[in-house]
Amino acid sequence: MERLQKVIAQAGIASRRKAEEMIAQGRVCVNGDIITEMGYKVKRGDVVEVDGNPIEKENKVYFLMNKPKKTMCTSNDEFDRTTVIDLIPCKERIFTVGRLDYDTSGVLLLTNDGEFANEIIHPRYHMPKVYNLTINGILTPEEMIQIKKGIVLDDGKKTLPAKLKLTEKDVAKNQCSFDLTIYEGRNRQIKRMMEALGYEVRRLHRKELAFLKCSDLRQGEYRILKPFEVAQLR
Ligand code: URA
Repeated sequence: MERLQKVIAQAGIASRRKAEEMIAQGRVCVNGDIITEMGYKVKRGDVVEVDGNPIEKENKVYFLMNKPKKTMCTSNDEFDRTTVIDLIPCKERIFTVGRLDYDTSGVLLLTNDGEFANEIIHPRYHMPKVYNLTINGILTPEEMIQIKKGIVLDDGKKTLPAKLKLTEKDVAKNQCSFDLTIYEGRNRQIKRMMEALGYEVRRLHRKELAFLKCSDLRQGEYRILKPFEVAQLR
């Protein structure tokens, strides 16, 4: 037996929160009866309808993309910019696992499995993420230590310890590039870490998410995750 809102979410109709709203609005029927009770348990063989349409369980799909710059991670954009969802022609209602900024490229997961997505982005997992970035300046040894130990961001909260490896130093252009491994995924975390030190990010690419890399994919290309990869991420 599954909770009604979960059944609706699993069918790819809406997120679990939206499904709860639909139930509260009286838009959901089970075996012909309108159900507004939130924890209602659906049994095998029950017919669930949303707005009069019977729902079917959706297959779970998992994609790994090398996200190109100038794409949004939302399902539609108010300014009609290309979204990563537009780049994957599939019938399932997919969404991104976490987000990368419009101008960030690199490893991105997409799925229609909400539970999987929540597990991956949950802070308690401390999933490592490796970014390569270029900033408008050259980090001092003290700043590198500060980044590794954790930096207090604009919200007053300190980041977890991180790993840093310098990959390029260009004095003429007054910039440097480095790999930065972080173990959390706060909103715009890398840019805010650099802002806290007075730098601007000129380029940001996510190279790795846990054991997944996208170096064999061109920007905008994607592949289906192998079942063992899905299992290993959980
Ligand atoms: N940190 C950022 O600032 N932006 C991203 O896109 C990802 C991590």
